[in-house]
Amino acid sequence: MIDKVDLKNFSLDQLVDYVRELGLPSFRAGQLFSWIYRPGITGFEQMTDIAMELRQDLAGQAVFSRFESLLREKSRDGTVKYGFRLNDGLLIESVLIPDDDRHTLCLSSQAGCAMGCVFCLTATMGLRRNLSPAEIVNQVGAVRDEMLKQDQGGITNLVFMGMGEPLANFNNLVTAISILTEQRGLDFSDRRITVSTCGLAPKIRELGLKTKVNLAVSLHSVRDEVRSRLMPINKTYGVDELLAACRDFPMPRRKRIMFEYIMLDGINDSDQDARLLADKLKDIRCKINLLPYNQTKELPYRRSPAQRIERFQKILWQAGYTVLVRTSRGSDISAACGQLAGKQQD
Ligand code: SAH
Repeated sequence: MIDKVDLKNFSLDQLVDYVRELGLPSFRAGQLFSWIYRPGITGFEQMTDIAMELRQDLAGQAVFSRFESLLREKSRDGTVKYGFRLNDGLLIESVLIPDDDRHTLCLSSQAGCAMGCVFCLTATMGLRRNLSPAEIVNQVGAVRDEMLKQDQGGITNLVFMGMGEPLANFNNLVTAISILTEQRGLDFSDRRITVSTCGLAPKIRELGLKTKVNLAVSLHSVRDEVRSRLMPINKTYGVDELLAACRDFPMPRRKRIMFEYIMLDGINDSDQDARLLADKLKDIRCKINLLPYNQTKELPYRRSPAQRIERFQKILWQAGYTVLVRTSRGSDISAACGQLAGKQQD
């Protein structure tokens, strides 16, 4: 069982290679691919357009995984946090955020995180390991199936804003995106997928070349000394280098880069911070999302007062930016930004 190949780790192209190695014609790959992502399909025996003997052969060497057990916690505001137990016992989380006409699923790319951002609870776990492509796409499959059962409509948007730094698990991320956007896979438009990064500048460029998904950047300050204190990655790729990578990001189908900016009381929320931010982003097609910091008792940081956030927003507005203040969702079940730490109750 352990050494069987999980077909869900393959992009369609990789699956073509795999079936060829088995001496099968390449059209089998497309057939298999469209079966394994379909709701309710759990075994090769259900693949009625494949001869029995071949199905048995395949079952002898391959599996297609799915998340079996699913933990579920619902917030007062409708946000749902899902917990998935991985084969090695680790727990990862995804968050479904329903809105009027949207159902956004927030995905994890790693168990834990190595980036060490001082304000984030996931960082306190450290990095346990990267998620495989199968473990990334199975979050989507499991939540989709559950929504189907409850007749809740489908997932409309995917954001890589859960646990982990997606660009630090680059190859698996790119494979997962190719499965998510493949028509015979999970069939999401790349315009409905957003990858958020703490700022791995060279990987931002690579993401721009290898996919067409939207980019979000966790910025939080444009002063190197402040940003380096908050986000250790800034010591490797400073603000100017990060923004240069953003300027190079190809944008035809992706409308704008989203800059996320947590509002931390007394740290990055002054009028001067706002003006400096406006100045630094001048020539980048972008929108700015201000995130009132979600406080946790484990960490000492405080959310900026509402008036401060309003004033900050106003300065950016006056400089011509689109600026939203993101309303926090799911904080009563520790599902809000920066609160995912795999501590869900069994
Ligand atoms: N590693 C990626 C993906 C995680 S996205 C990234 O850094 O972009 C999670 C977002 O929530 C990031 O913008 C992160 O900076 C932010 N965040 C972390 N802790 C938070 C908190 N306590 N309150 C609000 N936002 C937080």
